[in-house]
Amino acid sequence: MIEAMADLLPARTISSTCLQERRGERQPFRDYGDGLAGPDRVRRARILVVEDHVELQRALLINLRARRYDVMVARTGRDGLALAASRRPDAVILDLGLPDFDGTDFIVELRRWYLSPIIVMSGRTSPGDKIGALDAGADDYVTKPFAIDELLARLRAALRRDKGHVTHGQPPPVVIGRWRVDLGSHQVTRADAAGAPSDPVETLRLTPTEWAILELLLQRPGQLVGSAQLLTSVWGPGFQQRTNYLRFHMARLRRKLEDNPHRPRHLLTEPGMGYRYQPEARARPQNPTRSS
Ligand code: CA
Repeated sequence: MIEAMADLLPARTISSTCLQERRGERQPFRDYGDGLAGPDRVRRARILVVEDHVELQRALLINLRARRYDVMVARTGRDGLALAASRRPDAVILDLGLPDFDGTDFIVELRRWYLSPIIVMSGRTSPGDKIGALDAGADDYVTKPFAIDELLARLRAALRRDKGHVTHGQPPPVVIGRWRVDLGSHQVTRADAAGAPSDPVETLRLTPTEWAILELLLQRPGQLVGSAQLLTSVWGPGFQQRTNYLRFHMARLRRKLEDNPHRPRHLLTEPGMGYRYQPEARARPQNPTRSS
């Protein structure tokens, strides 16, 4: 009873929009011409720009915002992938020359679960570069230098083509202990089920709050996710100090998913910093005194 109440308290503060987005039930945006801006109740198309060149990044930001797109920018491939996973953009505009990623590798990585348009911009003009990017999963390609109007027209065309099937892909299911966690279908099922195909599959129920936390961690395998980021994303601004919420819900997640909740192998605490989902291949047991 106490647990149930404690879960309800913070869960109530999650906006229905956030939960809808996390469940992949987000409403499609509406296209109202150049800016996609419609009545206030209709959300704007969300564009992720991955570009390390500061001036071009700034020019794109200004032009896209002037046309009322909801814009976010990343200067590295690593940040770009993290933003794409957490914010689910409707389209990605990508520079092929990134400081930490080959652009084509970035596309391959993103396309493992991201289905919406990717538009590449690059100074590389050889047909081989274009073919490589398009074969990796890009939808379109503009060669630098380009007129901003051309890029915007290509973006509108890509969004129009994509409209009507804006169901976003999810990362593939992951295995934690005996359980298979599928973010796409929001189901946790036994990973080691050995019964007949007709046998009912054992499932595990997670609360909306537990799903929200788990989703943020699983979308960043191996990466530290800060407590403040988790608290803000799940409970909202103003909850950054409520680390007790995280301790409570992480303990519950471990009790449900980990084979030994006192020596977690996948849902790890980084004391004073945050939490980390450690995938199976490099899972390491954690000192029980450090888990909280
Ligand atoms: Ca560059």
